[in-house]
Amino acid sequence: MDALRTGRVVQVIAGFYHVAVGPGETVMCRARGRLKGAASIYPGDLVRVLLFEDELGTGRVEEVLPRASLLQRPAVANVTRVLVVMALAQPRPQSFLLDRLLVLTHLAGLEPLIVWNKADLEAEPESLALIDIYRVPGYPSVVVSAATGRGMEALVASLGDGVGVLAGPSGAGKSSILNRLVPEAAQETSTVSRKSGRGRHTTRSVRLCRVGDGWLADTPGFSRLDLPLIEPRELPATYPEFAEPARNCRYDGCLHASEPGCAVRDEVERGTIPPLRYEQYRRLLDEVIEAYRNRYR
Ligand code: GDP
Ligand code: ZN
Repeated sequence: MDALRTGRVVQVIAGFYHVAVGPGETVMCRARGRLKGAASIYPGDLVRVLLFEDELGTGRVEEVLPRASLLQRPAVANVTRVLVVMALAQPRPQSFLLDRLLVLTHLAGLEPLIVWNKADLEAEPESLALIDIYRVPGYPSVVVSAATGRGMEALVASLGDGVGVLAGPSGAGKSSILNRLVPEAAQETSTVSRKSGRGRHTTRSVRLCRVGDGWLADTPGFSRLDLPLIEPRELPATYPEFAEPARNCRYDGCLHASEPGCAVRDEVERGTIPPLRYEQYRRLLDEVIEAYRNRYR
């Protein structure tokens, strides 16, 4: 008898869904005409699959289970963690870009994990100081080296049984981390790029790779770094360390800019919120206000 199983969609290629239904067991499926649940299926989706006993390794997707989130570009469902990768050196970490990625992660409804990479290299003191500056509740972080493998267990542990996507500037070491965690991914990626001759930026379907008990997408997230159009008051809500003091600001909807009686600014003066984080917040806030003002143009 054909059996119904729950599985994770790991890749979608030309109308075929590759669904992991057990450890090391992937079945190729078409979707049933009148699919239950969502209208379309993305990598990361949890689905109910009817396994065809007379044709091993094949089946049919019957139903898409409720989706917790859907990341765009690359489209991956049920992402639980964005691994925001920053090199500690070569290239030097860019904290403003890090803030932007953390805000994007928050706006997408996802949890970040800051991954400080290239720990094997000698870094400048100001770069190393960032590790402490970004030790913010809500921003777990790990210090790793894709070159030596240092910190990789902590990274895998933080992924748990969830779905992760790598983000971060070019050169930070995203592919190196993926390749260290999934050696097979390296070979396939390079084969693809050599054949097409167009390098790694060739559009191809996202694939989820098994990492520990979880999954990691083989295509980096947030290829576009500009913030979506948001109301200015949505920005401070994406800064976890502002939440507590913000309750004591004199005005509701305080943007923590130049309003009198701002408790967030008090914390900056007291040094509990690092000035760097706050100054960069103000830069991002100006950007958001400007974009919002021009929203009908
Ligand atoms: P991506 O653009 O974020 O995917 O970065 P890559 O993975 O292509 O890495 C960029 C460069 O940094 C490559 O030359 C890697 O060999 C190097 N690299 C990546 N991780 C490490 C690391 O942990 N230590 C050192 N020393 N080099 C690294
Ligand atoms: Zn305030």
